[in-house]
Amino acid sequence: MVLALFFDLTDTLQDFDWNKQWNLLQEVIMKEAGDEVPIELLKKYYQQTYDFYRIGKIKNDFEFFDLIFRQLAMNISNKQIEKIVDRHLEIRKEFTSLPEKYDKTLIELAKHFKLAIVSSGVWPWGDYDFEKIFCFPMKKHFDLIVNSYEEGYLKDSGKLFDIALEKMGFDAKEVAYVGNSYEKDVLLAKQYGMKTIFLNKKNESLQGDITITKLSDLVEIIDQVKLI
Ligand SMILES: [Mg+2]
Repeated sequence: MVLALFFDLTDTLQDFDWNKQWNLLQEVIMKEAGDEVPIELLKKYYQQTYDFYRIGKIKNDFEFFDLIFRQLAMNISNKQIEKIVDRHLEIRKEFTSLPEKYDKTLIELAKHFKLAIVSSGVWPWGDYDFEKIFCFPMKKHFDLIVNSYEEGYLKDSGKLFDIALEKMGFDAKEVAYVGNSYEKDVLLAKQYGMKTIFLNKKNESLQGDITITKLSDLVEIIDQVKLI
């Protein structure tokens, strides 16, 4: 019997237009740092640095962008980095949004299940998006949030699941994990003994224990979810 739902955050509870994100960020960076920024290297160091940020080895946005420019061996002033930090937060509203019927969906689900977020995203950004763009705290509908930034481990270590299960007092088999990535959510959660709900937004020919195409579908299948 499924008693709790754990959710992935990025592209599950929060939608992103990744092309737009990258194009806008690139514009912001080039405006401050100049046209000579090597884009391919920037992308590479962005990704590497992002992975450190996700597990809290980098503490804030200044450290994040500063480290990228250090790796690029570019001479950028603190003031320029601060400007990039501010502009990056300002542009986030252009590329992130909530899935349709987010509030309604979670209010309904909370009547039937305990709800948690278990995420490997960059916590300060998720927190900012909910507080400043969506205008309510991420915690609003959830009993618990476990994130890699605070715990120091990524989701694929399994440790975030252990922490969430222990804090909420559930066995893995009493939990269904809801996520948009077959590999990083469905296969992973299955490996740790949880039931799986695959949010199959890209119409992949893959299945979780239950497969849905949008978050709000969950409300229609509550009884089915309980009995996975
Ligand atoms: Mg995701």
